[in-house]
Amino acid sequence: MTAREAVEKARECLEKVTPLESDCGELCAARCCRSLEGEETGMLLFPGEEERYQHMEGWKVLSGSAGNVVVCPGRCNRNERPLSCRIFPLLPVVRKGEIRAAMDQRASAVCPLAGYGVKGLSEAFREGVREAGRLLMESEETRQTLEEMTRRQDELKALRAAFGAK
Ligand code: SF4
Ligand code: SF4
Repeated sequence: MTAREAVEKARECLEKVTPLESDCGELCAARCCRSLEGEETGMLLFPGEEERYQHMEGWKVLSGSAGNVVVCPGRCNRNERPLSCRIFPLLPVVRKGEIRAAMDQRASAVCPLAGYGVKGLSEAFREGVREAGRLLMESEETRQTLEEMTRRQDELKALRAAFGAK
């Protein structure tokens, strides 16, 4: 499978499932969609996703040290959402070659669901994230992306632990 095909199929896994059965954005006024004042923060794009956003009005693709990111207009239709937004606040991580759905280490600063842990989120969503991860493992390029994301998550976890986070 090519990276682009893997990402497209992974996006489809999260087309209809969300962290909660109700719209969690209504609980927190969509905190994960808001940039900090004075900052323009983007979402990491998976390989091949940038082409979709390059010419969309109101969206901007930037190159960052971790790869391409997209800055969105702050509102979107579900079918426009990048994969990073579809899986948040979880991430598919690679452990001994297997995919696990883990809480994104960045979520605790933003997302009120982070405190409930992975099992506090809907089973359909957790399985969607795992399935997306399994599909991403089928392309060499996206497998490497997942392994790199896992490594960065581990670093962030160690850093948070060093500052007393549980
Ligand atoms: S911050 Fe968490 S609870 Fe709020 S919209 Fe984003 S994923 Fe849902
Ligand atoms: S792309 Fe959509 S879901 Fe993602 S941050 Fe922007 S508005 Fe929120």
